[in-house]
Amino acid sequence: MATLTLLFSKEEIDTRLDALAKEINAEYAGKELVLVCVLKGAIVFFSELLRRLDFDVEVGFVRVASYGLHGMESSNQVQLLQDIEYGEGELAGKHVLFVEDIVDTGQSMQHLFAHFAKKKPESIKLVGLVDKYGRRQVEIHTDFVGFRMEDAFVVGYGMDYMERYRNLPAVYTLSLD
Ligand code: 5GP
Ligand code: MG
Repeated sequence: MATLTLLFSKEEIDTRLDALAKEINAEYAGKELVLVCVLKGAIVFFSELLRRLDFDVEVGFVRVASYGLHGMESSNQVQLLQDIEYGEGELAGKHVLFVEDIVDTGQSMQHLFAHFAKKKPESIKLVGLVDKYGRRQVEIHTDFVGFRMEDAFVVGYGMDYMERYRNLPAVYTLSLD
């Protein structure tokens, strides 16, 4: 049986996002930013954050496979399934901010940081809705953090378990028994 327990309410998330957007607006004022959504789990967080930004911003979308498609466990093999339109050396003068739902082992972000470094942006940073700091396997720093959590499997607000629960308006922990 699947049990969902509310972890972060819509109101709590909205309040955190207002604060995060304030930090990001201050950091990137006057700079050229490409806001990169890490598909699919970050879609809701990305769009909620995007509409709180008060400067011109480009958007981009990447997709990686890390978690085996149908599980709750991460695999160490990360594969890039979708890239942005800018190739190697083509991000000169621009800053990149990855928008990720959850930073877990850090493997996906490590792969993306290395791949994007070749595009030669001015900077690469990361905003995560949830930073699961207790699960990190590689050194990845989440520059802007929505919520810190040691460990738990969460769904809702864009995040899935086997493609379900993305439409839930808040973040829930999921336990299967
Ligand atoms: P990492 O490469 O950091 O181990 O894994 C990152 C990806 O695994 C996240 O972007 C997210 O898509 C997925 N993931 C990690 N933890 C969770 C979780 O608790 N719930 C869901 N739905 N996805 C997770
Ligand atoms: Mg993700």
